[in-house]
Amino acid sequence: MDSNQSSRILGPSDIFTCEKCGKCCKGFGGTVVNQKEIAEISKFLNIDPDQFKQKYCQPSGKKLVLAQREDGYCIFWDQICTIHPVKPHMCKAWPFIKAVVTDVQNWHIMAGFCPGMRTDLPDSVILECVKNVIDKNAE
Ligand code: SF4
Ligand code: SF4
Repeated sequence: MDSNQSSRILGPSDIFTCEKCGKCCKGFGGTVVNQKEIAEISKFLNIDPDQFKQKYCQPSGKKLVLAQREDGYCIFWDQICTIHPVKPHMCKAWPFIKAVVTDVQNWHIMAGFCPGMRTDLPDSVILECVKNVIDKNAE
């Protein structure tokens, strides 16, 4: 970390830059969508919400997640996120998520597949930055 970075609180773009590789759009537990997000994405796609659920969602316990293709990618991944303006909160928030505040080691686990996340900074710096972003998003 250089002296400039150590003397100020880092912003989100200091510790994360999405490389648009799509690795986070493949596999894992699925992207949860709530009713508000379903309404927004359906409107964006110009289809009925019930049709959207049937065509693009699958159940995961009591929740709905975006469907995955056979290759494991989210159904909306096609070199880019094709619903980017209305993508679910889970996708918008990444990697500034509560799991990192709960245990900063999760940042390093996530960075194992997300090349946009910096791992060359002290955990205390990462934690402070992630907390700030979450607090700001909650305002
Ligand atoms: S894995 Fe990380 S760098 Fe790649 S698209 Fe997802 S958020 Fe961006
Ligand atoms: S909605 Fe977009 S960003 Fe989210 S998993 Fe699907 S393709 Fe990736």
